[in-house]
Amino acid sequence: MTGFLEQESGSFTVSGLDLGPGGPGGPGGPGGRGGRGGSGSSGTGGAGTAGSAADAASDFAVDLATFGQRLRHLRRARGLTLTELGSRVGRAPSALSLLENGRREPKLSLIESLATALSVAPEELLRHQPPSRRAQLEIALEQAQHDPLYSDLGLPYLKVGARVPSDVLEHLVALYTELRRQRTRPTATPEEARLANAGLRAAMRERGNYFAGIERLAADALRVVGYRGGPLSQGTLLAILAHHGFTVNYAPDLPRSVRSVTDLRHRRVYLKQEDVGMHSPRTILLQTLGHFVLDHDTPHDFADFLRQRVEANYFAAAVLVPEEFAARFLTDAKQARDLSVEDLRDVFAVSYEMAAHRFTNLATHHLGLPCHFVKNDESGIIYKAYENDGLVLPADESGAIEGQRMCRQWSGRQVFSAPDRSLYCQYSDTPSGTYWCAAHVDPSRDRGFAITLGTPYEHSRWFRGRDTVIRKSSRCPDIDCCQRPPATLASRWEGMAWPSARAHSHILSALPSGSFPGVDETDVYEFLDRHGKQRTE
Ligand SMILES: [Zn+2]
Repeated sequence: MTGFLEQESGSFTVSGLDLGPGGPGGPGGPGGRGGRGGSGSSGTGGAGTAGSAADAASDFAVDLATFGQRLRHLRRARGLTLTELGSRVGRAPSALSLLENGRREPKLSLIESLATALSVAPEELLRHQPPSRRAQLEIALEQAQHDPLYSDLGLPYLKVGARVPSDVLEHLVALYTELRRQRTRPTATPEEARLANAGLRAAMRERGNYFAGIERLAADALRVVGYRGGPLSQGTLLAILAHHGFTVNYAPDLPRSVRSVTDLRHRRVYLKQEDVGMHSPRTILLQTLGHFVLDHDTPHDFADFLRQRVEANYFAAAVLVPEEFAARFLTDAKQARDLSVEDLRDVFAVSYEMAAHRFTNLATHHLGLPCHFVKNDESGIIYKAYENDGLVLPADESGAIEGQRMCRQWSGRQVFSAPDRSLYCQYSDTPSGTYWCAAHVDPSRDRGFAITLGTPYEHSRWFRGRDTVIRKSSRCPDIDCCQRPPATLASRWEGMAWPSARAHSHILSALPSGSFPGVDETDVYEFLDRHGKQRTE
């Protein structure tokens, strides 16, 4: 494997740590190539083709095979040899042969003179449809042989010459297509995914959500670049990456299913230019580096994938909010009875969510505080959660809490109707005890998520906001707590309402297989191909 990926942030969540993607990622398959079935004859002089030559030229670099096929097809249709066409455009026959075999990129000026020599419009050469079914099959088999899935079969490379019959090509391509289809069935059923989530959460609770080994690696990474506390600057970040031999490159054409791609051969991390929500480029870069520093290999199953994801995210957070400095800061704040997630956020310039999550890493180990963390949307659906303070989170039969709806009385739901959503504190009486909780909704986002950090009543005395007078009572999972409408309301409307539910299946949907769930490997390999060429040759 020569590439590493960070997927687009989606919906898979676990245990208070941000996890990978939800549904099937990205566009399936190489975009638009050779798609239409193709007996298509091409002798129409380019009339009616879509897009100008300039449009087509902007992406013909990825379509050299089709270009070559079209060129050969048109040349033969005109009864020309390579030498004859070469003399018309002033090129050696060997140079044209490289073009026809898809091994060289033509300049726009050459495309224009070839088109003139063949009496067609340049668009005709640049169309994405192979000129014939035969050509389409040849291209498909050529591409198939570059797919790791195919090369894993250990077959010698098959050069498709003119003597290979078309029906043999039909068979080979159909077999490859079926192989690919079978291998892209979901790796994890929703059930398996939920079990993996629940298992991981239990393991994290066990250790107070603290991973000493990763803390050490993060501290090492910071030490070599001379970090002295405070927010991690861009310069320090780049120095950390450089220390591990990585450079950062921005690419507008990153495959849609990923948020970064790392070319391990050239040690380059590719990022999209834009900011991607809470995953600032800093976080993404550090997560990517985390996979490398932690010696991750291609995940062998879904649980492994989740574990790697959690570890890489932990590494990123441990670099951005370093243990040594954060623990000292929090210890002082505790002594001053002034603990708050907001301050941790401000001192290290990270998101509220990361600060709250990081708090759970350090609270038990360094401060002796059990706590809980929940991320939910306005309707109460839980996206992430972690607890080691006995709070009973709503769970399904498999123990999974993702996608479950939390009690109406909890702070994560109450905050949405609070006068100040940016910080809302309350005490909650629950069947498992009384908790003090602080909830926050990022006011700058359209789609609000509440981030809650809570602790049992007896530990609330260390926190700012303990003086809240709001106290709610929750009896969930007792069905009479909040899951049924009040009786008078129900009597008026029972049988008279027909709601259409919004599906939350994206949190739990199965992922397509492949080494990285939800990622189109073809897109990624093509991307790396494209950029590897541009920058080294
Ligand atoms: Zn309730």
